[in-house]
Amino acid sequence: MAITMFSHPSCYQHLAGDDHPEQPARLSAINDQLIRSGMEYIVQQRDATAATKDAVYRAHSNLYVDEIFVKTPGEGHIWLDPDTQMMKHSLNAALHAAGAGINAVDLVMQEPNQQAFCSVRPPGHHATRGEAMGFCIFNNIAIAALHALEQHKLERIAIVDFDVHHGNGTEDIFAGDERVLFCSSFQFPLYPNTGDTPLGNNIENLPLPALCKPALWREQIVKHWLPRINHFKPQLILVSAGFDGHREDDMAQFLLTEDDYQWIAQQLKQLADTHCDGRLVATLEGGYALSALGRSVVAFLKGLI
Ligand SMILES: [Zn+2]
Repeated sequence: MAITMFSHPSCYQHLAGDDHPEQPARLSAINDQLIRSGMEYIVQQRDATAATKDAVYRAHSNLYVDEIFVKTPGEGHIWLDPDTQMMKHSLNAALHAAGAGINAVDLVMQEPNQQAFCSVRPPGHHATRGEAMGFCIFNNIAIAALHALEQHKLERIAIVDFDVHHGNGTEDIFAGDERVLFCSSFQFPLYPNTGDTPLGNNIENLPLPALCKPALWREQIVKHWLPRINHFKPQLILVSAGFDGHREDDMAQFLLTEDDYQWIAQQLKQLADTHCDGRLVATLEGGYALSALGRSVVAFLKGLI
């Protein structure tokens, strides 16, 4: 049993804007809680490498990727969408955030019973095939999944997304791709106001109301996700781990606590043990209340152990 955490200094250099909630302090908050909990001795920390352009092309249109490379400003910032800014360090951060997922897949595919967590930013799950959205430039989890499918010749991957926002970008990229089962739980209605009607048979969406309590969230997961994933028999489980459904996070109105993130990690680990020789890779998506984010990531990691 081993958990490896991938990150990179460049992920601290991307600035999303003044007073922006998607800030470098998020990664520091995770590290602080890791040290405080004593978990830093259990979790191996590694530097990620940057994703190649070819790896990014797997999930995004060539046109979009080329545009991002060309648009990178030398100074100041540009807006990719009303929520998503890019400055001179953003491309490097985005490539390392995507690269971490690839490194993590390579690691867990080397030998059984390995799990990895990518503590990276910018996040990825809102980025569609052809557009940046909602703080996301490249879709890190989709790039990791496509790397696993194409380089490791896997045939079935489950992607589980428990961020409080719908993983619309991941759904856009994988809708109708039967190699991937995509499960997303989210508050609805809420940004990006998608997901109430799934775009393919391989999509298992759980739109849930504001003020969703832990009991309802867990009940829905037990009822809808666990049987579907068991039936699908994935060879690898990938997790879009967003912690903005925490009750202290004012980005949304879910009432989850760190106990729920520990619980979901236990459920996913059990599925990984049953179907994938324990192989699981999680990558950070949302989570903006700094203390709650740090505690929740630690709880999630504890759930994997
Ligand atoms: Zn979110």
